[in-house]
Amino acid sequence: MPSLTVIGDDLEVELPSGEAVRFAHLDYAASAPCVRAAADAVQDLLPRYGSVHRGTGVRSQSSTIAYELARDVVAEFVGARPGDSVIFTRNTTDALNLLARALPPGTTTVQFDGEHHANLLPWPGAVRLPVPSSLPALKDALRHALERITGPAVFTVTGASNVTGEVWPVRELADIAHAYGARVVVDAAQLAPHRPVDLDGLGADYLAFSGHKLYAPFGAGVLAGRADWLDAAPPYLAGGGAVTAVGAGPGDLTWSSGPARHEGGTPNLLGVVALAAVCEALLAADRDALRDHEEQLLARLRAGLAGVPGAAEVSLFGPDHPRVGIVSLAVDGHDPAEVARRLGHEHGIGVRAGQFCAHPLTRRLTGTDRTGPCGAGASGLLRASLGLGSTPDDVDRLIAGLRAVLTPQ
Ligand code: PMP
Repeated sequence: MPSLTVIGDDLEVELPSGEAVRFAHLDYAASAPCVRAAADAVQDLLPRYGSVHRGTGVRSQSSTIAYELARDVVAEFVGARPGDSVIFTRNTTDALNLLARALPPGTTTVQFDGEHHANLLPWPGAVRLPVPSSLPALKDALRHALERITGPAVFTVTGASNVTGEVWPVRELADIAHAYGARVVVDAAQLAPHRPVDLDGLGADYLAFSGHKLYAPFGAGVLAGRADWLDAAPPYLAGGGAVTAVGAGPGDLTWSSGPARHEGGTPNLLGVVALAAVCEALLAADRDALRDHEEQLLARLRAGLAGVPGAAEVSLFGPDHPRVGIVSLAVDGHDPAEVARRLGHEHGIGVRAGQFCAHPLTRRLTGTDRTGPCGAGASGLLRASLGLGSTPDDVDRLIAGLRAVLTPQ
């Protein structure tokens, strides 16, 4: 079975005391380390690496086969329905931008303001609703927005928040959206690494996610879903591969249909193969066991953090709402960037500070209107996130480290 062992699990860092400790990586939500399955897939393909869809030699043939097999694996990973498209992109941002440009003219997009910028910014003229703090109010707000729309509509929502880790009630919201004839887009960047993602199960028409958050950090991402709008849209990347015939005049051409229409240029074969290898490994894995393990670590983390004076967990829907292994904290009276820096330097722990490319949400959660550059640590929150290589020791060290950093000397 392909291995989900994290490469670099034993990475050591030297503390100011001279002591060497295992680096406690608690920043999976930003980028997950590579797993063995992804690295092996790349390594195995390299001797046969060649152009995709562009040659007759053995390298090109095996590369083309590897690329299309990867598409089949990803289709299975997302439970693609007959006729759905799986398009390889650079990442989630790229996938959502592609889809946003493929909407039929006159489509209205509805969203809540709890989204990552990757799912806030690509949709021109979107109706942006403040996130209510109760689930009934969330559903009502969506209903009210959708009933005002005439013409095609899209509701776009994250599967799990990159700030609070809370799992959005995607299925329930999707059912409402569908009742109003709207299509549903799920940003699965944070959901896919933690939970199975199934288009039909989620009630999604489209799903987007990134390889680098799914243990395959080789620059590939995915957009999967209904083919009709995608086939009717202008190519996302005009160029070789996106076209089947080019005549003499500028408009005298025939664009490709299917994924090729939007995958212009030479594709990222190694990234795609790595991503598919992780999808395959996850399909074969006991996902319930992985989830149980993560939930135990998360419970340990949240219980420990609750006892650290000066650290307060933030949430949208309350402490009992289901979440993936992500926790963000307000550290009152402290600069989260400085806290994160000290955790790294003095304790060998990697976390993230800032507004996590979700400014409207972090402003809401902190009750401030502070802004800062994307990813900056000057204001906002401190985030710890868990993944396949996380251990109870990582969690305990973060709790102890945070206690030490937040306690006045
Ligand atoms: N959506 C969510 C929920 C995310 O957490 C992120 C990355 N932090 C993105 C989208 C964007 O992903 P990428 O940077 O890989 O495009």
